[in-house]
Order: sequence, then C-alpha cells, then structure tokens
Amino acid sequence: MPRPILARIDLDALNNNLRVARRAAPATRTMAVIKANGYGHGLLRVAEALSEADGFALLDIQDAIRLREAGYRQTILLLEGYFAADDLPLLAEYDIACVIHSDWQIDLLDAYPRRGALDVWLKINSGMNRLGFAPQQLGQVLERLGRHGAVREITLMTHFANADEARGVSAQLELFNAAAGAYRLPRSLANSAALLRYPQTHGTWVRPGIMLYGASPFADKTAAELGLRPVMTLTSRIIATQELRSGDEVGYGSLFRADHSMRIGIVACGYADGYPRSAPTGTPVLVAGQRTRTLGRVSMDMLCVDLSALPQAGVGAPVTLWGEGMPIEEVATAAGTISYELMCALTARVPVVV
Ligand SMILES: *Cc1c(COP(=O)(O)O)cnc(C)c1O
Repeated sequence: MPRPILARIDLDALNNNLRVARRAAPATRTMAVIKANGYGHGLLRVAEALSEADGFALLDIQDAIRLREAGYRQTILLLEGYFAADDLPLLAEYDIACVIHSDWQIDLLDAYPRRGALDVWLKINSGMNRLGFAPQQLGQVLERLGRHGAVREITLMTHFANADEARGVSAQLELFNAAAGAYRLPRSLANSAALLRYPQTHGTWVRPGIMLYGASPFADKTAAELGLRPVMTLTSRIIATQELRSGDEVGYGSLFRADHSMRIGIVACGYADGYPRSAPTGTPVLVAGQRTRTLGRVSMDMLCVDLSALPQAGVGAPVTLWGEGMPIEEVATAAGTISYELMCALTARVPVVV
C-alpha cells in the first residue's frame, strides 16, 4: 500500500476553464500558457485537455518538440525565445515561434542562413523592466528584423506587471499602443488577469495561464465567481491521532501549544511533497469534508491538523490540502505566497491520477 498522498488532475475542469477564457475573449486567439510542466499539472496531459487552444506557450525547446512530435499542429511559442545559435535550426525544423527580447538574439539570427523560417514575437518592455525592447527602439528593431531573411511573421507583444492589482494596465497599455500603433502587426498583451478584466488588451492573441488551472488571478474575486473549476486536488489521509493535554506542544520548534485538551491528526503530507513549509498554524485544510486548520510547523513528510470539531475523524480520514472544496488561493495566502507557486512546487514523489 503506497503512502496515501495523491494529486488528482481534473481534465474536464481544464477544458471548462479554457472555455471560460474563450468566452471572455471571443474574437481573439488563445495561447494556452503551459510553462513549468503545465503549472505543475503535467505537460502532455494538460496539452491534451487544452487541445482546442490555438497555441501553446512554454519555455523549453525540448518540450516544444515533444508537443510537435505528439502531433500538435497549433502555434507553439517559446516565451524566452532561443538561448543559443544551435536552437535556430530546431525552431525552423519544428515550426516553433520564438520571443525575441534582446539585441543579442538578433545578432545570433544574423548568422543563421535559412530564409523565411521563423515566426517572431517581438517583446516590448512597457514597464515590467524584465524582458523586451524599449518602446522607442521598436522602429529600429522592426527595420532590422523586417529586412532579415530568416523572419517570416512578426507579432508584437508585451507583458503586464499589475493586471491583477489596483494599478491595472493603463500606463503600460498606453505605452505599448503608442509604440505599436504605427504598425499593422498582430498583437498579444493579456495574461489571465488582463484577459478577464481589460477587454481593451485582448489584441490578436491572449495568453491565459493561471485561470486555465482553475485559480483566480485576483485577490478580490474567487475562482468560483469567475466560473473557474480547480484542476489540481491534493489529497492525503490522517495516519495517526494524538490526544493533547493543556500545555502540550506540537512539532518542530514547538510552535503550537494547546491551551486546553484537544485531539489532533497527523497527515501524510509535508514540504517534500510540495506543501509550503511557510504555512503557519491556522492554514485552512479540509478533513472528512469539513474545514479545519493546520497546527504548528509543517515538516518534511507530515503536518498536523486540529480535530477538536471533528470527533468522528480518525486514522484514515480523507484530507484535502487544496483543490476541490479547498481553494488553493486560500492556502497560498495563508502561506504568504500565490497559487502559481504551490502548483509548480508539487514534487515528483506525489503520484498523479487523472
Ligand atoms: C506566465 C505568462 C503568462 C500567463 O500568466 P498568468 O498570470 O498565469 O495568466 C502570460 N504571458 C507571459 C509572457 C508569461 O510569462
């Protein structure tokens, strides 16, 4: 009998969430972002459930090739583009589009002989200050790429820093539009938050990520309110219980101390499974379908939960760490992080079932 921890991936939910994205941006092509192993859900598994998407975006050229070899005909985009000259023939051979964000990438392209082989997504830095050319460089870069024999199609793109926050997109959108306005080229700007909140950012392609996996990009709106269904549900079971007397302490560092007698459960899930060690006492958790809280420090293989209000829950009781019935955003917020990080952090030792 294996250890009882399990991650269930709901492919119908993934497909439902893609349809939510398409309904919110009906006139726009959808580039499903499946980087980081499909946000921790499994690359090929996710691609199959999202096969109605018009494109896939990720980082690793070998993953892109894997998708082509699995038969996907959609646009496939490398979000950081290529890293070395040897990548270029592979991009052409497998028809993989690439972001170009820096001069050094164009320099590598200059040494590439093949003509009309590459679709380029030219990244404009509209305020994130991570990747991309300054808006005022756009004319010059486009001229250089435009007379480049290797380049086939050019899409203009940018990425928002605050689409999920009160700041919104207006300053970045204005900069991008002012720079891109002179050119009749396809455009792509929106992540999940912009897709849902700012239709004026939709352009030619939207690039939803987190919403596809069923988490809300917003602090002030739940996934359920957006019509999104959780895709990953992390479950385990209680493997032991303890009766605490007043003054008894729990776990490493004795961070929790009982102020009255109480019963606790020990769950087979810890930070080596991807549960955040930063989750403090009080992080919400579902035991036998009922909400309760974690107690004390999360250890490598176990964590503790309060069974005071669950007299019937004993060894074997099912526990949902996040997912169906226990929004991952709530766990992330309690742990001082975001749903994205929890999904990506699921470790290889956790068995995955669909
Ligand atoms: C990750 C990423 C996205 C998707 O962002 P979400 O917030 O997950 O929707 C879109 N565009 C780029 C460039 C990204 O790196």
